[in-house]
Amino acid sequence: MSVDDGVQVLELELAGLAEALTAPRLGECLMCFTNRMLAEFGCDHTLRWSRRYQQLQAPQAYGLRRRLLSQGICCDCDIFARGWDVAVSTVVDRESGQECWPPEVTGCRRVRRGSTQPCTLWAPRAGRP
Ligand SMILES: [Zn+2]
Ligand SMILES: [Zn+2]
Repeated sequence: MSVDDGVQVLELELAGLAEALTAPRLGECLMCFTNRMLAEFGCDHTLRWSRRYQQLQAPQAYGLRRRLLSQGICCDCDIFARGWDVAVSTVVDRESGQECWPPEVTGCRRVRRGSTQPCTLWAPRAGRP
């Protein structure tokens, strides 16, 4: 194996790693996935994470983007700023000062595959159009 082959393999492995890191977990809902990706990678001012979720988990839900846009949601963080809020009381982490899930929440409460509905950790914001 040449050095070039080694580089090639490494690049493929990195691509595979990123793929796995940005894939929805089993049964994970759109909101938990998008929230997790935003926390990890941030928002690029597009609907990239919700689009990725839709493509991977809910290919039938091609109207999702239009539905979000019609609610004034133009990027992934708007989903939380305008559309949905946590339905449980969160706690503030003492060290980081970040808002966190309470200890009894161990991850997404799961939705069926193909759904773009949130799990019960999320509730529509009051006054949502
Ligand atoms: Zn954003
Ligand atoms: Zn969820």
